[in-house]
Amino acid sequence: MNRVQQRTALRDYYSTHFNFDDLAAFINFSDFSTREFGFATLEGKFFRNISFETPKALIDFLVDRTPYHVYIGAVYNDPPTRENPIHTLEWFGHELVFDIDLNEYDAVRQHVCNCQGADQVCIRCWQLVNLAVHIIDETLRLDFGMKDITWVFSGRRGVHGWIADDVGFTINQEQRMSLIDYLSVIHGEAEKARIQDRTKLKYDFRYRIEHTVFKYFLKNVRRKDLIDLGFSSSIATNVMKQLEHQEGQIDESLLRNFNLRIAKINKYDEILRRWVPRIDHKVTIDLRRLLRLPTSIHGKTGKIAQILHPSDIFSFNPDEESSIFT
Ligand SMILES: [Zn+2]
Repeated sequence: MNRVQQRTALRDYYSTHFNFDDLAAFINFSDFSTREFGFATLEGKFFRNISFETPKALIDFLVDRTPYHVYIGAVYNDPPTRENPIHTLEWFGHELVFDIDLNEYDAVRQHVCNCQGADQVCIRCWQLVNLAVHIIDETLRLDFGMKDITWVFSGRRGVHGWIADDVGFTINQEQRMSLIDYLSVIHGEAEKARIQDRTKLKYDFRYRIEHTVFKYFLKNVRRKDLIDLGFSSSIATNVMKQLEHQEGQIDESLLRNFNLRIAKINKYDEILRRWVPRIDHKVTIDLRRLLRLPTSIHGKTGKIAQILHPSDIFSFNPDEESSIFT
């Protein structure tokens, strides 16, 4: 598609398919006119410090200007404008958001699938995202009492978790940082990132992490992964046979059995290192962060940053999503 065709596709989407009501369910629009928005154009220019009096004014802008990327930021005391940019305004609030992106997993993704380069994603490596959603969602609900959590596809290789509970909107940077610290078992992004000493984790959380990680690992493991970890060929065959027999259902005895085997070859931390959630810290702690507007179009892929409904969140396959540009 050339630029003219892309512009037409964007205009068609924002004029007929874009629905603001879906967003209002988890984004606080009571102070709509003082909320910051940002845009990237088809020509590659980037603008922020923009605000709109009403949602309709925003939609009219999207239809008229057909931006390539649409971003939403924080709420301030006055409308952000070029003359009154956000650093001159008083910050009022920003939803608590968690960003899970396969970019963070580049150092370990080769142990899970055969994707090459930054643009590829497949259903196998998407399980890393699913696992992170599983653990973070459950932990925010059970350990922090949060209830209103919406997961949104980023349009490319990740998801954003938006927390709509009131407490999430106004908590400061230190509080956001301590939430990240609680949820992060891994430190550093490189291949050899350090796994936290598990004895220092809260028992429930530690159990949840280990239990969920090993379940996902076994559900997705290939014979070659077991051999690579150091298992003998006969043990690898044996484990694969057991898994086949259980048809994807990982029961507790299989899990216990496998954990004993993995402890024997001392690869417990190695599996955790490959699979534990890797959260992009910067997104959560930056109070003035611009984030892709849920249900807008990701300009690079042409895919909708769609809301993932709880009933089908774990069966979502980003690779099968259609693009408005094709
Ligand atoms: Zn992949």
